[in-house]
Amino acid sequence: MKLIDFLQDSQLNLLRRQMGTDDYGNFQLFDPQRQLTYAEREALEQGELHISASLTRALRDKTLALKNSRIWLLNDNALHLAHCHQVQHIRNLGQAVRCGTHDWPHGELCLDCLALLNYRGLDARRARRAEFCDPIVQQFSLQEFQQLYPFYPLEGS
Ligand SMILES: [Zn+2]
Repeated sequence: MKLIDFLQDSQLNLLRRQMGTDDYGNFQLFDPQRQLTYAEREALEQGELHISASLTRALRDKTLALKNSRIWLLNDNALHLAHCHQVQHIRNLGQAVRCGTHDWPHGELCLDCLALLNYRGLDARRARRAEFCDPIVQQFSLQEFQQLYPFYPLEGS
């Protein structure tokens, strides 16, 4: 079968010239299995996306993602930023979770997640010591975290 080469199509090329462009442009296919829809992005920005935890995934750097965005995940008043044991458990059970990318709801920051990421030198041992954890939790800023881990869009997805 011979495929039509639209780049050689005189009528389309004429149309392109009439539009005032010499570029062919980018053709990007939208894949809703891998890319967030507009509605999902909006819900994430409002911190109101309610989904099954099994839909989330752990990235190689151990942070959490939904499709092509990093996310925070709220479950049982605990705010998770990484694939800690609790999150693994929640994901295996497919529990309902609340996810977001912007507004940070009231919840307790999961220290296991931060230790997993070695956030500000936190590790599993130090995560048990209040004098080390308390300042990190008190000074935690999602904006600062996102400078280390940009949320959206994820590169290469
Ligand atoms: Zn966690």
